[in-house]
Amino acid sequence: MSTDSEEKILTDSLPPIRTIGVLGAGTMGHGIAQVAAAGGFEVVLRDLNDELVARGRQAIERNLAKGIERGKITEEQKQKVLSRITTTSELRELAAADLIIEAAPENLDLKRNLLRECEEVTQADCIWATNTSSLSITEIAGAAARPHKVIGMHFFNPVHIMRLVEIVIGRQTSDETAAVVREVGRQMKKEPIVVRDVPGFASSRLGVTLGLEAMRMVEQGVASARDIDTAMELGYNHPMGPLRLTDLVGLDVRLSIAEYLHNKLGSETFRPPEILRRLVSEGKLGKKSGEGFYRWNEHDSAQTAYTT
Ligand code: NAD
Repeated sequence: MSTDSEEKILTDSLPPIRTIGVLGAGTMGHGIAQVAAAGGFEVVLRDLNDELVARGRQAIERNLAKGIERGKITEEQKQKVLSRITTTSELRELAAADLIIEAAPENLDLKRNLLRECEEVTQADCIWATNTSSLSITEIAGAAARPHKVIGMHFFNPVHIMRLVEIVIGRQTSDETAAVVREVGRQMKKEPIVVRDVPGFASSRLGVTLGLEAMRMVEQGVASARDIDTAMELGYNHPMGPLRLTDLVGLDVRLSIAEYLHNKLGSETFRPPEILRRLVSEGKLGKKSGEGFYRWNEHDSAQTAYTT
């Protein structure tokens, strides 16, 4: 890992990043596209079909409209951000991207396939960053012809509000790639931290532990979901309790991360609780499906806490 001044020399000698391709317009992808456009980059947002990309674009419009309501941005800034985002269902429209940020579902084979497909359509110096929450960057990069250009860029939900981005360095990631991506993160008004490619990185390992323990407490009838969340919000000054956060992340996403960490780290701490498996199998995926540990209304505020 290089120092800040070494990094400056590295980034000065590289072609600038102008166009960012974002793969997946879901919970994370639409937010990444928004902060990239707000940071001045041209953005091509891609999902599997027109309906999915349209939904992603609408979510960006809603975020920006809320920003105006709260006096954070002007109508003009909103229009500028939107004008920098084009949407597509065609991978080949990412051909001009200098950097691709992948925010497709948390599945190793899917991400490896996407990486290979992207390498076929992009130029040789295109950087490929994955927003994976827990998969190994080195394993994903194993599918690449240019693994030194592969890196983790782990954003937090909701992307347009959360300031952290974890830059995850795979075994073959080059210093240049890391330097460029850190700079891009800063231009997106995020605070980058650099972590080694270990299961759970710096943040997920601790965050998932707290979330799974909170679920076990609901299961055991220790307290309601709402009271458990209140304990952490008021007792520990967390801005949001672990179960409400799980609803925002998506229960399906949390389940696959827990399964992965359980398998990789071999610790019982990460064994997925039964309640999590049950809710996912019932299609209760959190805010995106309208219900998880809470029921959500159309104004996006959690209404009633789920009771077992
Ligand atoms: P999501 O299910 O909300 O969105 C994923 C999107 O990817 C869907 O719209 C899907 O149609 C699309 N997709 C599937 N295959 C695709 C392909 N081949 N090309 C382009 N798009 C494709 O998932 P999400 O919550 O946004 O998570 C995406 C990634 O971000 C995962 O790796 C997840 O672990 C990670 N992540 C999620 C969170 C979170 O809070 N949800 C936080 C940090 C990181």
